[in-house]
Amino acid sequence: MQTQDINFQNANIRVEDDRTGLSVEALKRAFLDNLFYIQGKFPAIATRNDYYMALAYTVRDRLFRRWINTAEVYTTQGSRTVCYFSAEFLMGPHLGNNLINLGIFDQVKQAMQELGLDLDELMEQEEEPGLGNGGLGRLAACYLDSMATLEIASIGYGIRYEFGIFDQDIRDGWQVESTDKWLSYGNPWEISRPEWEVQVKFGGYTEAFTNERGQYRVRWVPDKVVRGVPHDTPILGYQVNTCNTLRLWSSEAIESFDFTAFNAGDYSGAVYKKMESENISKVLYPNDNMTQGKILRLEQQFFFVSCSLQDMIRILERQNISLDRFHEKFVVQLNDTHPSIAIAELMRLLMDEHGMEWDQAWNITSKTFAYTNHTLLPEALERWPIGLFGKLLPRHLEIIYEINSRFLDEVRLKYPDDIARINRMSLIDESGERYVRMANLACVGSFAINGVAALHTELMKKDVLHDFYELYPDKFNNKTNGVTPRRFMVLSNPRLCRLITSKIGHTWVKHLDELHQLEAYVDDPEFRAEFRQIKQAIKQDLAQYIKANYGLEVDPASMFDIQAKRIHEYKRQHLNALHIITLYNRIKANPDIDITPRTFLFGGKAAPGYFLAKLIIKFINSIGDVVNRDPDVRGRLKVLFLKDYSVKFAQRVYPAADLSEQISTAGKEASGTGNMKFAMNGALTIGTLDGANVEILEEVGAENFFLFGMTAEEVYAKRAAGYNPMEYYESDPELKLVLDRVASGFFSHGDVNLFKPLIDNLLYSDPYFLLADYRSYVDCQDRVSLAYRNQDHWTRMSILNTARMGKFSSDRSIQDYCDDIWKVHPIKIELRDYVQGGCGFDGSTDCKVVF
Ligand SMILES: *Cc1c(COP(=O)(O)O)cnc(C)c1O
Repeated sequence: MQTQDINFQNANIRVEDDRTGLSVEALKRAFLDNLFYIQGKFPAIATRNDYYMALAYTVRDRLFRRWINTAEVYTTQGSRTVCYFSAEFLMGPHLGNNLINLGIFDQVKQAMQELGLDLDELMEQEEEPGLGNGGLGRLAACYLDSMATLEIASIGYGIRYEFGIFDQDIRDGWQVESTDKWLSYGNPWEISRPEWEVQVKFGGYTEAFTNERGQYRVRWVPDKVVRGVPHDTPILGYQVNTCNTLRLWSSEAIESFDFTAFNAGDYSGAVYKKMESENISKVLYPNDNMTQGKILRLEQQFFFVSCSLQDMIRILERQNISLDRFHEKFVVQLNDTHPSIAIAELMRLLMDEHGMEWDQAWNITSKTFAYTNHTLLPEALERWPIGLFGKLLPRHLEIIYEINSRFLDEVRLKYPDDIARINRMSLIDESGERYVRMANLACVGSFAINGVAALHTELMKKDVLHDFYELYPDKFNNKTNGVTPRRFMVLSNPRLCRLITSKIGHTWVKHLDELHQLEAYVDDPEFRAEFRQIKQAIKQDLAQYIKANYGLEVDPASMFDIQAKRIHEYKRQHLNALHIITLYNRIKANPDIDITPRTFLFGGKAAPGYFLAKLIIKFINSIGDVVNRDPDVRGRLKVLFLKDYSVKFAQRVYPAADLSEQISTAGKEASGTGNMKFAMNGALTIGTLDGANVEILEEVGAENFFLFGMTAEEVYAKRAAGYNPMEYYESDPELKLVLDRVASGFFSHGDVNLFKPLIDNLLYSDPYFLLADYRSYVDCQDRVSLAYRNQDHWTRMSILNTARMGKFSSDRSIQDYCDDIWKVHPIKIELRDYVQGGCGFDGSTDCKVVF
């Protein structure tokens, strides 16, 4: 290490100092420095993880100035801040994203190369924080990226789960789960801030009293108190100085509790209390679009919400801003109902802890929250049994009763004598066992309610939230989801991005609509050839990965037909499977049939308690076992289930697709974001008119989209008319053969019972209308196969998909949230130096940071 080269006397050293310099030389020195002083290693004894850590710290050092500058500007300007409350943040690896956003990817790649290291390998080393299940958590992560990029003051608030989404292995075709120990090698991207810890109460009882001024008050006497400790991760925007914060809370025991029990001689009691406290942030519930009425889940929700609101109050108090301006200084976006207990908790904090009266507290609360609805599936609507709720949160139950009583008076005034309506809208479900309805609480307590795609918002207004729409039509609005092009194009598909930038310049990364300019090149044969070669090269890479990791040969010239998302009946991975069997049957009937070769790839996790979803995984693997080996197939079809789908892996998969499977039952997928990530990278979609597919079709044009299946209205009508799946089985010989083959044990070594639950489900109930959509789907797939044979035309369509995806940048979504809901504007952050001057280092006191 050439440390002698560095002149510490030089006042301008910061430009090239090891802690901030961006030249290849400075990066190399910093890297070796961090390897030695943080990892305690030098190259001869360093592991790949040591190298990864040294690089992560090197990059993190280059974020700090922006991070502190940002916090300082927000503090001194008292900026209106968006607080994004989400039980899940599916961030994906940080290293590559930070390199892109800092604009130092190429320098770092070169620096590593000069040290004999491969940047791609180091990025592969990062254990991603899998603190989410799927789309909802990934949306929160994309929104953080876009808020920082658009220079919007924001904080992401959530839970620092010690174990995120489980790791998935496949053994004998079945999903096997193991714990996600993402923190075991340490997390270089977070900084804990124990000085800002808060306390959260649970259980116990409430008592009313009259205070010294003769006012009626309520005191909550809890039977458990835990500490919430914030862990902050910097969220840098794309080539701006804005660096916002993701603040995740972890639960810890209160020391004094342990000591009391310990001194009383109850050692195991003390240990148990500690364990119980730490359990709250221990593990992410692995259900996607499905609630589990477990008390621990409610504890998690209340825990992070209470921590976050207390943190926001601290920030205001430190800025000497009065609490009655809470709603001016903050707006809280509720990512689904998971954090909706925040409405009752803010009421409690304002009244019980800060002495406000109901009306003022309600005025503030009802101007603070905005609620995003994410699903129409009845099994995903959160409700808590009153008994359980009141035991854990006795004070909040009282507050909810009071909100409800005032709310129902309002409803009664508008709809006198409409008892049925009042029962439907009540925050309490009294139809049987009594429940608190979290969606109703969210609707009453929020000033805005949005769906996540145009169709979803319409269905929401028509169906699940219809009564609330009639009462508060102005609260309702649509915000179609988006995804960040930084991670899902620039980072994951550098070859395509280089080609795009060579034609239209680089500003499309921040203004994705500019991709439209690519349309000018769609008739340029040379451009089409380059575009096609890039897709081919990416497929080649994935084929190599598959060979290395699964020992399976797949043909990169075959169509890569991919369905990657959580496994769920409504997403209909099994419909895809029925199509594969259909093609296989055609080959068996006529081995010389002329068929377009396809590689079917699946990825996605099933909730551990979701039997049919796990059986679908086994089903896909069993089909693969037969199809991949049958000599009649002659390699023309390959079927593979890729294990442990994650953000890291998603980045490898989306760019490699020719065909994107978005085949949910119409009306069931709220938006989908995988559909956007595929299409941006030039995959064509085969899809239903569901979620954002509708808008993707609208953007790319029907001639560049493979549409099939019933509409949501047709699905409702069919259900209402009494759907009989057996009719389809009886009347479609190809479908009958598919189901009969499966039922005969053909794909299960003769075991006729293995897939019986799946087949019986389809024949006798088919709640997601697979059989009704089968013919339309298979015929559409035949059109896909035909289209793929004309590679030149296919490439045209593929280019037009990429070119017309501008709408689906999360920057557009966030701009819409800013304009219509949050009413916030960008705040420019200038780079100020802290090493040389200002902020305490030189004795000055002009810097204040409370964020
Ligand atoms: C985008 C994404 C999802 C959501 O996919 P859908 O197809 O919209 O369900 C789920 N998981 C990961 C890792 C993703 O990146």
